Amino acid sequence: MFKIYEKYLEAIDEYLSKCFKSQGVFIHCKSGCSMCCEVGEYPFSRLEMEYLMNGFPELAVNVQVLIKSKIKELKLRKKDFSGRFMHECPFLIEKKCVLYSRRGVVCRTFGLASFEQIDGRPVIKLPECSRHGLNYSEILDTSKLGIEAFQKYGVSGPISHSLSLNYFEKEIIRGVNSLEFGEIRSMLDWF
Ligand code: SF4
Repeated sequence: MFKIYEKYLEAIDEYLSKCFKSQGVFIHCKSGCSMCCEVGEYPFSRLEMEYLMNGFPELAVNVQVLIKSKIKELKLRKKDFSGRFMHECPFLIEKKCVLYSRRGVVCRTFGLASFEQIDGRPVIKLPECSRHGLNYSEILDTSKLGIEAFQKYGVSGPISHSLSLNYFEKEIIRGVNSLEFGEIRSMLDWF
């Protein structure tokens, strides 16, 4: 059922691993750090959510119960909240993603800078951890951040990706054009 999507994920992972490699000078990700999963909204398309939840029944029953209660509690908190509701991902347990191999595309980009065109201008956005002395903290002056900042540090490979997940880098998805990602919502809105 998810064969084509898994092919797509393989291509995405391969591309992103090149990004991580080329930006290695700025990357301080290490095992045990889960900062990217602790504060966010986690946009997931319908397809990504279906793939994630397809692995849910394989989790231990106590873990399933814990995740369901976290989701319930988060949804209650979100109801009384105005503005962007940033929260810890309910699938993060003891600082580990319990559905890591099934995580969404946005999760796979965690730790990298993202590249977007805003008003026709290339803008690089750094991950939140840059403000905590981690990835890209060396080039934290985002006011003037551009491609040159990366070049100055000798980064020559693919520098980044767009966070408009699912659709970036046309050449990556060649052969998997038949994929339908569906609507994108923040994670909690799928429950
Ligand atoms: S699904 Fe996993 S990788 Fe993605 S935000 Fe949640 S815990 Fe982190």
